[in-house]
Formats: sequence, structure tokens, C-alpha cells
Amino acid sequence: MPIEAIQLRQQTVLIIDDDPIVVDIMETVFDGDLRILTARNGRAGIAMACAENPDLILLDVRMPDMDGYETCRLLKSMAETADIPVIFLTARVETEDEFKGLELGAIDYIAKPIVPQIVRARIQNHLTLKRQRDQLANMSMIDGLTGIANRRRFDDHIEQELRRGSRNKAPLSLLLMDIDDFKAYNDTYGHARGDDCLRTVAQEIRNFLRRPSDLVARYGGEEFAVVLPDTPPEAALMLAEKIRIGIEKLNIPHKAARAADHVTVSIGAAMCPPDEPMTKAQLIEAADTQLYASKRAGRNRVTQAA
Ligand code: GH3
Ligand code: MG
Ligand code: MG
Repeated sequence: MPIEAIQLRQQTVLIIDDDPIVVDIMETVFDGDLRILTARNGRAGIAMACAENPDLILLDVRMPDMDGYETCRLLKSMAETADIPVIFLTARVETEDEFKGLELGAIDYIAKPIVPQIVRARIQNHLTLKRQRDQLANMSMIDGLTGIANRRRFDDHIEQELRRGSRNKAPLSLLLMDIDDFKAYNDTYGHARGDDCLRTVAQEIRNFLRRPSDLVARYGGEEFAVVLPDTPPEAALMLAEKIRIGIEKLNIPHKAARAADHVTVSIGAAMCPPDEPMTKAQLIEAADTQLYASKRAGRNRVTQAA
């Protein structure tokens, strides 16, 4: 199978057009390379775009009820769909129409009647750009050393979950953890082994998370944060203890550590109660205070606010 076909495979195009012939042509043009979704009017198209998050939308201008311009305007006004590239597909090729579409945020215009080879080439170009854009967006949220979420992703996620928690009246727990005597680890075993240790610890923490909304992030150099939506303090404490033991059991030698002869972490746990919303900064500070208490009490332990 040619590489371009493999690349196109998982991408999805939504066609919003009241004319079924267009759909037939597109299905022939891409011959199974693309996942094609269809909607026969603007309203159904918008609903489908929200539900399926397609990589590209082909949008007919002339449709009964809501026309393509209005559909595009609505798509661009909603956070869920604003970033999906829109291409107008239309018989109206007057300069003014073209301008209007581009001004509404469409990235391209394809004139009907459709010329299959041209449409195929153009759509492939746009899908390649979309894929590259998605990859960049994804990379900007991932920590390069450990492969887990980075601080930016953590910030976005915790803010989103704090909002959701206060809406749904659900508790949100946060664990902050910090490797014990890690400076001494680097000094003893070298920075490269230190990096390996960070990767191993990050993976180990990740293994304990079960729900899609749980997130582990590299919060700082040798500090990790775990966001646990809809999790009461008892459950957060249990998980923190499991993670602490899990890391002990990795049995990574650390002869310069004070708490043990292997790598350990100290953990601080805090919760945002369902009935009194906290800011991100308040919740982080609460967890950090507990982390500091764990350090002071001798490291390799979990502390939670009373
Ligand atoms: P404590 O038990 O109090 O946490 O002591 P500590 O030595 O872990 O704390 P400190 O904050 O003094 O040192 C953190 C060390 O983590 C210092 C730094 O060299 C190391 N570090 C931070 N980021 C990285 C990294 O990306 N790779 C490696 N190898 N080391 C890192
Ligand atoms: Mg630290
Ligand atoms: Mg440390």
C-alpha cells in the first residue's frame, strides 16, 4: 500500500451537501482511503462535526434552510469546531462569493463540477497540513524526556477539571510528588542515569492511572503531578500510597539517599471540595504544603491535609 494511502487512512472528512452525487464522487475519488461522513444540511453537519471532530469539512454553499456561509459562521464560532478546516464546495465561483467564504474562515474553495484528480490532490494537501498541525499541537503538550504530559498540559487539564468539578459538584484530588535526594542521585550515578530514572518513575506512575480523565504530568525537574477528577480524599490517599510502594518496588539503587537505599518519592495530597471551589494556585499550594510535610517527616511517605 502506498505511504500516502496509509497516511490518509485514519483521517476523516465530513461532507455537508444536499446533493448525494458529491458524496458518490468523493467516495470514488478516495476509494476507501478516507473515512467519509455525510450530512445533508447545515444543522445536521454541525451536530456531526461536534460529535466526530473530523479533520476536514467540505461544505456546500447552496443548501435549503441554512446555507453554507451561515453553517461556516456557526462552526467557526464554537470552540469544539472552530479549528476544523473548512473547504467550500460550490458552483458559485464569483469572486465575491469566494471572498465571503474565505473571510468567514474557510481555507479553500473547490468549484463544481468536481474534477476528481484536482479535488483529490487538494484535499490530500489540506489533510497533510492538518496532520502536521495536530502533531505539533500534540508535541507541545508532551514532555520530551519522559513522554508524559508536560506542565502546559497539566495547567490546561487541571483548570478544565476544576471547572467541571465545580459544575458537577465533584471533588478533585491532586497529588504532587518529588523524587527523594535526586540531586545526590545525579551526583552519584550521572545525569544520564538520572534521566533514565525519571523516565522509569514517570512510566510507573502512569501504570496506576485508570480513568481517561486522570492525568500524570511532569510538573518540574524531578516533580510529578497527578490530577484525579471526581476522586475523594480516601481514594486519592490509597492511590498515592500504591504509587509510593510501586516506586519503591522498582528497586532502583540509590546508595546516597537518606530514606532508603533505593529511589523513593515523597507525596503530598490535597483535594478541592465539591462545595467550595478553589483556584488552581490554591490547590497546588495545598498539595505542595503536604509534600513539604512528607519531606520534613523523613521522605518516602504520603501526607494529606487533615
Ligand atoms: P529532596 O529529597 O529534598 O527532594 O532532595 P533533591 O535532591 O531531590 O532536591 P533538589 O531540588 O535539591 O534537587 C533536584 C535535582 O533534580 C537537581 C537536578 O539536578 C535534578 N534534575 C532536575 N531535572 C532533571 C533532569 O531533567 N534530569 C536529571 N538527570 N536531573 C534533573
Ligand atoms: Mg524538587
Ligand atoms: Mg527531590
